[in-house]
Amino acid sequence: MSVGQPVVAVVGRPNVGKSTLVNRVLGRRAAVVEDVPGVTRDRIAYDAVWSGRRFTLVDTGGWEPDAAGLAAMVSEQAQAALDTADAVLFIVDVLTGATDADEAVARVLHRSGLPVILVANKVDDARSEADAAALWSLGLGEPHPVSALHGRGSGDLLDAVLAVLPEAPRERFGADTGGPRRVALIGRPNVGKSSLLNKIAGSRRSLVHDEAGTTRDPVDELVTVGGEEWMFIDTAGLRRRVREASGAEYYSSLRTATALEAAEVAIVLLDAGEPLTEQDQRVISMVVEAGRALVLAFNKWDLVDEDRRLTLEREIVRDLGRVAWAPRVNVSARTGRATDRLAPALRTSLESWGTRIPTGRLNTWLGEVVSATPPPARGGKVPKVLFATQAGVRPPRFVVFTTGFLEPGYRRFLERRLREDFGFTGSPISISVRVRE
Ligand code: GDP
Ligand code: GDP
Repeated sequence: MSVGQPVVAVVGRPNVGKSTLVNRVLGRRAAVVEDVPGVTRDRIAYDAVWSGRRFTLVDTGGWEPDAAGLAAMVSEQAQAALDTADAVLFIVDVLTGATDADEAVARVLHRSGLPVILVANKVDDARSEADAAALWSLGLGEPHPVSALHGRGSGDLLDAVLAVLPEAPRERFGADTGGPRRVALIGRPNVGKSSLLNKIAGSRRSLVHDEAGTTRDPVDELVTVGGEEWMFIDTAGLRRRVREASGAEYYSSLRTATALEAAEVAIVLLDAGEPLTEQDQRVISMVVEAGRALVLAFNKWDLVDEDRRLTLEREIVRDLGRVAWAPRVNVSARTGRATDRLAPALRTSLESWGTRIPTGRLNTWLGEVVSATPPPARGGKVPKVLFATQAGVRPPRFVVFTTGFLEPGYRRFLERRLREDFGFTGSPISISVRVRE
């Protein structure tokens, strides 16, 4: 499978037309890229391209039903495909209609929370469109009527696939490799980053990686925090103090960007003794824009008296409202105060960052929210909110399908409600809107 391309799995019962559809999508460019060992048969991955976007199409194959029970096997196959997929094309034959096996697969897909495009295949003419509509009953959203054999509807289908497909494949981070989670300890100069690292790392520190040949060697360190090993990114950069006044900020923001690139979660260290600066805000923005999980740590708490604490609380409300979702920990690198709260905060943020809301639950929620508070009308028309799907994790990304433009204010309202009802403590989330004509 080509690394760096998102993966679309094609799932369905035998004879629903999976191979026909795969060939339709690939056209003459059909080329076997790799055989993937599957549950009952090898799965085959192909490189595909549509509207200039490349993705890997995985045909889950035509397995034979046996005594073990068709439904069980089909769902097993679907489950295996889900482990690698970023989105799923689920094919149902409208001539047969939804069978028990189809419903079993639908349940598995539903639970997975992956974006699912439901394909109503063998809609060879306009008359069978009504049969396609019957597949709404599978609870996977709108069925896309297609004739894989004749090509009818296949362009629209691929547009729908691209709409829910993440730009990049699921990233394989520490969580996927079973290795330590990756942390960037960042903040403007003098907030106490190297002091904090020294405090928490103590003597149990091991250098991990030292690439020779550059003057800015990236060195990551395994650090035990809260009884668990974490990979702290580019700790060499933390220790190499940039003394020169000119360019210092540039180098520190370069270091921050590079560390964030490699990290899953960032601890943004702030100086609790001083007002927040623009540079602090920039560091926080970098984390949000990079889509990384976030923990805010207020350092030098040993210098904070009652007066300062009250002022700081006001500053937090005034200046940090946009990251009110991030856990905050008040620490002192000097005394070691509360540094044991860092690990739980990191874990919480990482968990939110990887959260997937199953499509069914998401849509039940959306239905309730929208009927209680419908979107404002535009040009005399109230846009209909059709359904939503979670297009990705790390961070969680949602796509809402509508019949018309949603005001940015309404989008923010949805995000606020999503956070109220599902949490996402410590993770940025995004909601995008796709308009269906
Ligand atoms: P697979 O089991 O998913 O691989 O299914 P195939 O792609 O082999 O197709 C099974 C049968 O359905 C073949 O005879 C195809 O020609 C037929 N078929 C596939 N797509 C369509 C379609 O859109 N319309 C009609 N009428 N037949 C189709
Ligand atoms: P960095 O530039 O972010 O790595 O910051 P340093 O770790 O070099 O710390 C900058 C200055 O703040 C040093 O003089 C530290 O001794 C001091 N400092 C760091 N952490 C604390 C703390 O928790 N309390 C106090 N009072 N001073 C601290």
